[in-house]
Amino acid sequence: MQIIVNKLTQKFYKTIIIGSGAGGATAAYQLSKNFDSICILEEGKKFNQSFFSNRKISSRSQKLWRNGGFTPLIGNPPLPFAEGVALGGTTVSNGGYLEDIDDRAYENLKNIMNLGNNDVKILRSNFSQIKKKFDTQKDKDQNFNGDSHILTKYLEKEKINYRFVDLARKNCCHNNQCISGCPISAKTTDVSLNLIPDSIKKGVDVFQNTKVLSIKKDGKNIVLSTNNKKYLFKCEKLILSAGALQTPFLLKKNGINNQVGKKIKFHLNYKVLANFNDKICAKKGTIFNIDINHFKNERFKFSASNFLEPYIFSTTSFLNNLEINRLNQRLDFLGMYVAQIEVRGYASLKSSIFSEPLIFYKLDDNDYKLIIKSIIEFCKILFGSGATELILPYGNGKILKSEKDLNEFVKSFKTKFMHFNCAHMMNSCPIGFENNILNNDASLIDSDNIFVLDASTLPTSSDSSPQLAIMSLVKFIIENNYPKFN
Ligand SMILES: Cc1cc2nc3c(=O)[nH]c(=O)nc-3n(C[C@H](O)[C@H](O)[C@H](O)COP(=O)(O)OP(=O)(O)OC[C@H]3O[C@@H](n4cnc5c(N)ncnc54)[C@H](O)[C@@H]3O)c2cc1C
Repeated sequence: MQIIVNKLTQKFYKTIIIGSGAGGATAAYQLSKNFDSICILEEGKKFNQSFFSNRKISSRSQKLWRNGGFTPLIGNPPLPFAEGVALGGTTVSNGGYLEDIDDRAYENLKNIMNLGNNDVKILRSNFSQIKKKFDTQKDKDQNFNGDSHILTKYLEKEKINYRFVDLARKNCCHNNQCISGCPISAKTTDVSLNLIPDSIKKGVDVFQNTKVLSIKKDGKNIVLSTNNKKYLFKCEKLILSAGALQTPFLLKKNGINNQVGKKIKFHLNYKVLANFNDKICAKKGTIFNIDINHFKNERFKFSASNFLEPYIFSTTSFLNNLEINRLNQRLDFLGMYVAQIEVRGYASLKSSIFSEPLIFYKLDDNDYKLIIKSIIEFCKILFGSGATELILPYGNGKILKSEKDLNEFVKSFKTKFMHFNCAHMMNSCPIGFENNILNNDASLIDSDNIFVLDASTLPTSSDSSPQLAIMSLVKFIIENNYPKFN
């Protein structure tokens, strides 16, 4: 139905989804199997393959991420967080690995959602079905990912656990650009290549470049104003899938729920550059093909990272020109590695009066110990694997040449001098009865026609890949509660 209101044409849908990333695309795909009158409103646009194959990585990153990839979390030190803004959301420019959540995370979900054993079985099977749909494979080819393979001899000798991970890609040419969008569309985690076109075929309307600015209740319906100059949107059911920061921001800013965004969980990352004696030719590869999950009970893990000049030199921008030039001569001998820590501290959405969310974070005392422990274990593995020099993101760059240097370094270590970034935000509107924000069907406790289905819903940070966890949970929630969504 279309009505003209103040020169805007009113568009009515039974269900509107805000955001087209992992959560929104899965919701659209699942709902379009049974219902019509669904639309997606997406702030970003569709980036075609020519965008990825023709443009420099730096200009791609500027366009694909909100604020060029630096949404700030205020604390000491400040942390940058990367939020994808594109048709497909963060899945367009994420790493492209899909791993199941671990038993601890299943147990957590089971408890907070009051799930029975059969529910857990269904949830587990969702993980495998999505992996199958996305064609995940392990890549053990020794001709690629030299930065990963160089570690395995030492890991095996020291009995440190690692695994070959499931990478979601088809006909990958090892361009090593996963986190800037794949130039040959090989990365199947990008939902703009699969779930969104499949949903459009089933009748879902998609409005790109359409940012939702306000949400208002109008009797039983919901009215959405956007930056789209043609339409005013109205629906009976609203699904928020705008990501772990934008979803609580929209809810709070529009006075719909004030409890959201209080305990946002996140992973803390830092990158180390390692200089080896042997050539490892890390450029020829993918983001990584093994991860070191030995320390998962201690809540940290390591892996290689995408390796190309723009990634290395933007990560080590704290070094002086002399150091940068020296490293530039050694490209074939370098590897860049990332540590990921599941911190206990959390971030909170403090204000929604500005046009962007204002987020603060705080670590707790255990996190500081964890950071130091992770640095020690990480550097030992890299030295043990043959690195002769490690460059740590600390102050103006800390160069370690031996374990003796490492021991000296940790004695005077101060967290505020580290250059961290943060990834994988979740739990800003968590599901689970004890959180008192969402019902088990992901509707808001106090508004049963407004749902949250994205990273915000995920109550658990774990050993897993968030995209797969979000998609499996969204599929599970929708399949268990179909009639409520349309
Ligand atoms: C560098 C990086 C690498 C990663 N690698 C992996 C990986 O390898 N494997 C994995 O499983 N996970 C990975 N992740 C995490 C994973 O990609 C995200 O957790 C997941 O995409 C989040 O899904 P989402 O639906 O919550 O949000 P998103 O995918 O971010 O989608 C949110 C969408 O909402 C849109 N939006 C926001 N506000 C509005 C508004 N007001 N109006 C309209 N639209 C709006 C945004 O433009 C965006 O398209 C990675 C994340 C990062 C940052």
